[in-house]
Amino acid sequence: MSQYSTSNNQFVSRSNHVECKCGLPSPLMTTLTYVNQGHRFFGCRMYKSQRYKKCSHFAWYDEEMSQRAKEVISSMHQKLNQEKFKLNEAIIREDQLKLKIKFLKMMNKFIMGMTLVLLIGLIVSNVIN
Ligand SMILES: [Zn+2]
Repeated sequence: MSQYSTSNNQFVSRSNHVECKCGLPSPLMTTLTYVNQGHRFFGCRMYKSQRYKKCSHFAWYDEEMSQRAKEVISSMHQKLNQEKFKLNEAIIREDQLKLKIKFLKMMNKFIMGMTLVLLIGLIVSNVIN
């Protein structure tokens, strides 16, 4: 049976560990920090929530991942960051293109207006002469 260690080195079966101090199910999560990469732990579901009082529940899960699993997670994390960077670049490029389209539409309206004025001017000058 899977077990985890609490901060005071008690071992409790995973199935017995269902709630954090908030009374919510405590999820098994995976660290992405360089030092503990891939190491799993039980934490508080509301840890990142600003509205919720944090209970600071934390306990390492005792099964450490294999070196291969750590390498795969690290590689996937790097690829995820690269894709996030590409996405941000694409969003910036999209904003630049939207501005360019807006400018070109304004220029189109201006040229159409000037063309109309010139046409009316030509017609009027032909009628007078
Ligand atoms: Zn909690």
